[in-house]
Amino acid sequence: MSRAFLQHITDTLGQIDAEGLRKTEREITSAQAGTVQVAGTDGFLNLCANNYLGLADHPALIQAAKDAMDQRGFGMASVRFICGTQDLHRQLEQALAQFLNHEDAILFAACFDANGGLFEPLLDARDAIVSDALNHASIIDGIRLSKARRYRYANSDMTDLEQALRRARAEGARHIMIATDGVFSMDGFLADLPRIRALADRYDAMLMVDDCHATGFVGPNGAGTPDHHGVRADIVTGTLGKALGGSMGGFIAGPQPVIEMLRQRARPYLFSNALPPMVVAAGIAALKLVQDGADRREALQRNTAYWRAGLENLGFDLLPGHHPIVPVMLYEARIAQDMARRLFDLGVFVAGFFYPVVPHGQARIRTQMNAALSLQDLDRALDAFATAGKASGALK
Ligand SMILES: *Cc1c(COP(=O)(O)O)cnc(C)c1O
Repeated sequence: MSRAFLQHITDTLGQIDAEGLRKTEREITSAQAGTVQVAGTDGFLNLCANNYLGLADHPALIQAAKDAMDQRGFGMASVRFICGTQDLHRQLEQALAQFLNHEDAILFAACFDANGGLFEPLLDARDAIVSDALNHASIIDGIRLSKARRYRYANSDMTDLEQALRRARAEGARHIMIATDGVFSMDGFLADLPRIRALADRYDAMLMVDDCHATGFVGPNGAGTPDHHGVRADIVTGTLGKALGGSMGGFIAGPQPVIEMLRQRARPYLFSNALPPMVVAAGIAALKLVQDGADRREALQRNTAYWRAGLENLGFDLLPGHHPIVPVMLYEARIAQDMARRLFDLGVFVAGFFYPVVPHGQARIRTQMNAALSLQDLDRALDAFATAGKASGALK
């Protein structure tokens, strides 16, 4: 590799450092859980995992994975359509479809791939995609990979959405698809699906919802934001990598012909390896746990309410809501960084978010609740937030 090229990369990394934007990775030396060991030290309360239902180390998932590995081997060494489909894959797809109340579902290696492969086979240059400005990077990339015309609306701004729909119609779009996250992950805000659905119907548009931060725990049945709002989404994408065990795998659920078209044409499905049996079997076990009882969802809700109330009592500014994403607003990047460091020293694992991940002046520590944390754990975390908040100047 040329010296000039490596120098160029090194210079760019130097700029990332100078701007304070370098991301570093802390090494966990235990299972992912409510409490984790970090670099050999026990007892860190994990308040930044997407492990909402605490299933990442659940014995039923581990057993299902072990059994599948014993019976069906380690890997598939094939894409789905050549020789990479086991009965387990179809079982999980059908279980997901049934859970989400759709006709069928299709698995991908990750939801990043599901979103990346969704739009291009379904929509072409005669069509339009209308997308929320805060949608996940994988939706943005997926839309870029399609030939459809693109319209963007300001986050959750229904006036702007309607204008975009009107423009798409005026400009002759054949089919229109609205794409939105079900939950916006920086804020924990839910998309206003009832109003989006009403606008979709008024302008004869389809509605696609990415429910990665909702599948399994939002809504009375845990079936996500459409379940919560009592609203129909035409297409739902989601992940096995968050609440449903936290390993790998994404999916798309929708009408049977749409799913069949994706099986024929979605590039990340056609040209990438099938999920391994252990991951698929654990996904089936996770869905079963979610459908067998509401106890984990209730523990998550109890923790979220307790955590919000505790932080508010201490005097922190929170963004309003009920989602287990609970952002503690600190506004200045310096304070968010300082507080995250102090919390880590006090045994609480959190992440500070600042520009460019969130707007200037909106720095925060994004905490996330999960069902594996006890109220005693949360009391310990609240003590740490009180101490770190005072030391960093966030609290008076
Ligand atoms: C996490 C996430 C993804 C990516 O899911 P993976 O399965 O990890 O690739 C896509 N969309 C949203 C909204 C997410 O939060």
